[in-house]
Amino acid sequence: MIVSMSSRVRPTRKLRRTFTLSPQNVAYIEKQARERNMPSLSAFLDELLQEKTREQKLAEIEANTIAYYDSLTDEERLVQDSVARFVNAFPQYRVHHLLRTAGVESALARLGGVAVAGAAYRGVGIPACIASGRSAARALL
Ligand SMILES: Cc1cc2nc3c(=O)[nH]c(=O)nc-3n(C[C@H](O)[C@H](O)[C@H](O)COP(=O)(O)OP(=O)(O)OC[C@H]3O[C@@H](n4cnc5c(N)ncnc54)[C@H](O)[C@@H]3O)c2cc1C
Repeated sequence: MIVSMSSRVRPTRKLRRTFTLSPQNVAYIEKQARERNMPSLSAFLDELLQEKTREQKLAEIEANTIAYYDSLTDEERLVQDSVARFVNAFPQYRVHHLLRTAGVESALARLGGVAVAGAAYRGVGIPACIASGRSAARALL
């Protein structure tokens, strides 16, 4: 059987190619096209070609990555591999966090002589922590 398919060169232009396929290949193509609800055999072959191209590209990237890591010296690999995850490193604010913070601050102001500062209150970044420390110090003066 002869199946003709078109492969996309540019979005606007298609090339026609003609292939001779064995009966087993034709049966496979027909089954796959049916299972994938493809409008035609050539549409299925187009999709198959795109899948294979993607697989080929991924295999190429994987091979290049492996080759890169294989080319590193032990020392370089140590630097590359020493990445650690800081678990629970940052406070996780919940909804209405700032409202709760304002409540804590006003309760402490009424109490007098105690103030809070740091990443748990008004921002986790260092500038926010410094501002929070300054504001706490001012509240105690
Ligand atoms: C890995 C990492 C990277 C970061 N990078 C950045 C960045 O690039 N830029 C940025 O803006 N922010 C960064 N941050 C966030 C920022 O550094 C922190 O949010 C900020 O330093 C918190 O300040 P803090 O004063 O609240 O707490 P901390 O800096 O943790 O200070 C708390 C201090 O209290 C001490 N302490 C704890 N318990 C007690 C106790 N019972 N008695 C006495 N002392 C105690 C601790 O030893 C510590 O010295 C980073 C944070 C992490 C974890």
